[in-house]
Amino acid sequence: MINIASPDIGPEETAAVNAVLKSGMLAQGPKVAELEAAFATYCSTKFALALNSGTAALHAALFAIGVGPGDEVITTPFTFIATINTILMQNAKPVLVDIETDSFNIDPALIKPAITAKTKALLPIDLYGQPYDYDEVKTLADEHGLKIVEDACQAVGATYKTKKAGQLGDIGCFSLYATKNIMSGEGGLITTDNEAYAMAIKQFRQHGMSASYEYEHLGYNYRMSDLHAAIAVEQLKKADRYATQRNQNAALYNQGLRAIPGLLLPSLKPDRTHVYHQYTVRVTTDFPLTRDQLMQSLREKGIGAGIYYPKPLHLYPHTRQLGYKVGDFPNAERAAAEVLSLPVHPKVSSDDIVLVIAAVKDAAHGK
Ligand SMILES: *Cc1c(COP(=O)(O)O)cnc(C)c1O
Repeated sequence: MINIASPDIGPEETAAVNAVLKSGMLAQGPKVAELEAAFATYCSTKFALALNSGTAALHAALFAIGVGPGDEVITTPFTFIATINTILMQNAKPVLVDIETDSFNIDPALIKPAITAKTKALLPIDLYGQPYDYDEVKTLADEHGLKIVEDACQAVGATYKTKKAGQLGDIGCFSLYATKNIMSGEGGLITTDNEAYAMAIKQFRQHGMSASYEYEHLGYNYRMSDLHAAIAVEQLKKADRYATQRNQNAALYNQGLRAIPGLLLPSLKPDRTHVYHQYTVRVTTDFPLTRDQLMQSLREKGIGAGIYYPKPLHLYPHTRQLGYKVGDFPNAERAAAEVLSLPVHPKVSSDDIVLVIAAVKDAAHGK
């Protein structure tokens, strides 16, 4: 089976976890501090904070910039549910705008009409590992006095001009979930240059605690354990190698899947680098099989193709209450119907990719 994701756990990770186990200090401690310092350096930000998930990171980021009841946060319906749920956790309102069909990221042209007096922040996503249109979105944010929280959960190591993912906003949020480009099983990281935000996030992840048993505001237990940090420290050392391997695999797919009618390959917009968290094609009606039939046929051949995401986020029961309906976001809805991600992670070999390409071509020729 060629899996859609497969964590790369080497002797370094195992040794690092064993060392923490032997130390007897398992909760947030020196390994978390080491990870935070290394990640801030990696992303060229002043601060990095570790949390126990990407969801916790997004939640803490929204808290830090002051998103609360009645505020509006603009994002897209084509992302992982955490992006929207964390806005709801702060009793704020997700205001959705459609995506661009080529990059799957927020369409900057649609942001301005969605801004109201209640808008507090913009929450763009670097979907599949490709940074969003930072310059356009940043200009709008500055014009309207809005903060940007970057959902960089899929984009560790990606770049936009001279900036890295994590620098494309007032706060950047990352996930270390087991399938992400670097991982610790579960985990999250926040980057920021703003000291006040960093302080607020440190308190938020520890029940709002400012000093021993002094609680300044509501908070959560969002701390990362040193066991998880030990894995992440080792993974971070490999992040650039992983990104290179993902790019090499993507290039092989781009080459091998060219000019197949009905199959649209991922596009890379100017001024940025992609880290291919997913290599995602679109299967249109010109392809002889439906997207789901193609996925099924690949799976029968041992190829773990996947759909991220099968349903746009405005069509779930708790988000429909926001008043959205089918037809509101045609690009997101079409993407949800057409996308198919092929295995691109560093453990996928060039031989594997030859197999996947052959399987897609067979399907395209009705075989
Ligand atoms: C993975 C992911 C998250 C949430 O991260 P968890 O660590 O699973 O909580 C949020 N947004 C996006 C775009 C993600 O891919």
